[in-house]
Amino acid sequence: MQRRDFLTGAGAGLAATALAACGKKEQAAAAGELPTIRWRLASSYPKSLDTIYGAAEVMAKRVEAITNGKFQIRVHAGGEIVPGLQVLDAVQQGTIECGHSASYYYVGKNMAFAFDCAVPFGLTARQQNAWMYQGGGLELTRELFKDYNILNFPGGNTGVQMGGWFRKEVNSLADLNGLKMRIPGIGGQIMAKLGAVPQTLAGGDIYPALERGAIDAAEWVGPYDDEKLGFAKIAKHYYYPGWWEGGPQLSFYVNIDKWNTLPESYRQAFETACMEANLNMLAAYDTKNPQALQRLVAAGVQLHAFPKDVMTAAQKIAFGLYEEEAGRNPIFRKIYQPWKQFREAELQWFKLAEASYTNFLFGT
Ligand code: CA
Repeated sequence: MQRRDFLTGAGAGLAATALAACGKKEQAAAAGELPTIRWRLASSYPKSLDTIYGAAEVMAKRVEAITNGKFQIRVHAGGEIVPGLQVLDAVQQGTIECGHSASYYYVGKNMAFAFDCAVPFGLTARQQNAWMYQGGGLELTRELFKDYNILNFPGGNTGVQMGGWFRKEVNSLADLNGLKMRIPGIGGQIMAKLGAVPQTLAGGDIYPALERGAIDAAEWVGPYDDEKLGFAKIAKHYYYPGWWEGGPQLSFYVNIDKWNTLPESYRQAFETACMEANLNMLAAYDTKNPQALQRLVAAGVQLHAFPKDVMTAAQKIAFGLYEEEAGRNPIFRKIYQPWKQFREAELQWFKLAEASYTNFLFGT
């Protein structure tokens, strides 16, 4: 048969019928077989932190829309199902199917969890995304999470945080001596080595402690979130940058057994929605922080850069800590070594076009 005959003759009709039948069959199978699934997501955050808490809602709504309403994820604020700092444990145990948290909360289990969020003097938000999505970071951090029966996905970023609120100015390293500061995690460990007295306090406890003088300084997030807690009223010196959080990434956690029960298209929807939430949260902060900063400055807040000697000493201590940990913790070492190389390469690249362009725009 000539090709033309096939296309115009009886053959074409047969082929078209077969194609239509096949398409209908697939559609019916897809519609009939895909189950309705309802999951619960535990967030580590209160609804008042709308940008961070909101990232989980962005993700859940998108998943539901993509799956025609069949895969429903209900977001619960911190404390509703489990306390905010126990989200990883709850997902690991399968008490809940998924969670939204910051992996550096779990450095007490393994310091390597910090790579899935932020380590002091680590990557910026853009560099963190590059490392996770293209630079091997996701594969490396998933080796760690596998031991906890969890699959992790990047799920938001605040961008570089502020260095916090101080009752008195910090003009040199000596001014940190004996300073009581709310700063948790590895940043707190470094502050201790610089002579300060780090404290770990939950968000709601910071203001009263600062007000009554139980602490001299406190870090939280950045202008938009800090403004809501009212620190400007009691500590007017606002420092930058938050060198312990240069691009902290939030993460979605999924229990691997539950993940394995999902149809492939639901997994794709989940993964895509996590990427959207990751992008969307940073965009929200980059839009809201400048407006909040203007309001704070108008209200009399004084902005200061951390002195160079503080930054230099802190960075040296940070990398000393990482080398020490790499010497005794195999998974930390396995992630740290390629991470460090990646960071070096990123800095070489970013200090050319990116830095010269932005510095020119800043007028510096
Ligand atoms: Ca912070």
